[in-house]
Amino acid sequence: MTLTRKLETLTVRCDACPTVYRHTYGEADFLTMMGDIQREGWKPKKLAGVWHHTCPDCARSREGRLL
Ligand SMILES: [Zn+2]
Repeated sequence: MTLTRKLETLTVRCDACPTVYRHTYGEADFLTMMGDIQREGWKPKKLAGVWHHTCPDCARSREGRLL
């Protein structure tokens, strides 16, 4: 689980490395957060009802293997 709820704030952490998104959001701002992280290259994916996130660096290295 990569969404950390702490004092009603949301934090995004990469599943593949220790990178944490630099902003935190209030619980009501979930959709804003999802929009912001995707604009910056994070890749959210929902598997079996659980959100997984990949930071831009890890997303690039996964997609860039053939380049
Ligand atoms: Zn990462």
